[in-house]
Amino acid sequence: MSDMDIDEHNDEIRSCTRCRLHENRTQAVPNQGSADADTMLVGKMVGYKDDKVGLPYQGEAGNVLDDALERADKTRQDVFLTNLTRCYPPESRNPRADELDRCARFFDRELEAVDPETIVALGKVVAERLLGRDVSVEEEHGTRHTYNTLTFRAEVVVTYNVGAATYDPSLRDVIADEVAEAVER
Ligand code: SF4
Repeated sequence: MSDMDIDEHNDEIRSCTRCRLHENRTQAVPNQGSADADTMLVGKMVGYKDDKVGLPYQGEAGNVLDDALERADKTRQDVFLTNLTRCYPPESRNPRADELDRCARFFDRELEAVDPETIVALGKVVAERLLGRDVSVEEEHGTRHTYNTLTFRAEVVVTYNVGAATYDPSLRDVIADEVAEAVER
């Protein structure tokens, strides 16, 4: 994806009103990082601070992610950061199935354009969306799987939602290790 294409893509996200989540947003939050990256990190939704700043993974959850990247001697510019939905849901509720479906076009386009070797699924919603089955992150974090479509193949690494570490600090090291290992490969 060229820089110009990324700009057009992100402009389309910023002006999107395809689902009800646009009604309460401050702004839609596109992606961040390099479209040439080998690793794509995917969350389910943007957070409260992301909505204010206009960039993904701000605040404490963002610190968890930045620590993980630093452990692999990487920065945000060495990976591609994105979410399945791009508008902050009221009171941080989970995105609903129809909202995930309506926003999927943006993620699908990014997946095709970035063509990553590895996708890090940050949490249950993302892992289930990619693997097409129920996932227990508690049981499956750190595991690797193959994501296959007719035109695309990548390895999926399952780990916790980075936001989980803001409630359970013991997860911080687990997430950092699993993200770092995925990014270093
Ligand atoms: S969440 Fe996605 S589909 Fe819904 S309005 Fe925002 S950008 Fe559009």
